[in-house]
Amino acid sequence: MLKGGARTMMDANQTAEAHCICGKVKLQFLRPLPVLHVHCCCGDCRQGREWVASEGGPSMKQAVTLIYYFENDLAPLDSEALSSLFSVKLREAGRTTRLITKCCHSILAIDHPYYEENVACVHSDACELVAPHIDPLSRIFTDGWDAAYDGEMPSTTASLEDSKAMWEKFAGIVKRPVREAKGIKLQDILAQLPPPTILGLAEKTRLLPPAGSRDSGAGIIE
Ligand SMILES: [Zn+2]
Ligand SMILES: [Zn+2]
Repeated sequence: MLKGGARTMMDANQTAEAHCICGKVKLQFLRPLPVLHVHCCCGDCRQGREWVASEGGPSMKQAVTLIYYFENDLAPLDSEALSSLFSVKLREAGRTTRLITKCCHSILAIDHPYYEENVACVHSDACELVAPHIDPLSRIFTDGWDAAYDGEMPSTTASLEDSKAMWEKFAGIVKRPVREAKGIKLQDILAQLPPPTILGLAEKTRLLPPAGSRDSGAGIIE
């Protein structure tokens, strides 16, 4: 959930943080303005969120994954916070690493080698994200939308562009080097944790009933 969305003016004291839904652990971004916001339709983002939801973490409100990227310049974590975190990969060959809290299975950040350590990725429905609002650039991985399972793509996502030009913009932003970093990198945090837990989930496997059916209780097949 993105809070503080009405604030579009930056002030010197403004901060951004991803904290877990129980409030115990927070990850603070030293450059509070997100550099990029996209809607992702891919199966892996969705599966990672379904996995934490199935473990008692943040519930799946919708199948589209709302992604915010911040410059990879983070406040250091103390030993108590570090001991409250672990990391996972969806499968052995998975390239994405998710930083998850032990207390409430919130995903605080996500790393992928494609970002080349320039940005930290946050799924705003998988934690509590407090940050200034920016508009989405585009939707990505449209071919990963599971219409048979989730139905029609929401219009707020479907109205966004998915094109080669948008992807080039995306790549240009996530690969922009951090200048004069004052804090630590997401990789510094991951390096202090045990190796990622491998979940062994097959690609495209769904772990929960469709998001739209859960509020009413329908779709839970016995
Ligand atoms: Zn927590
Ligand atoms: Zn994705």
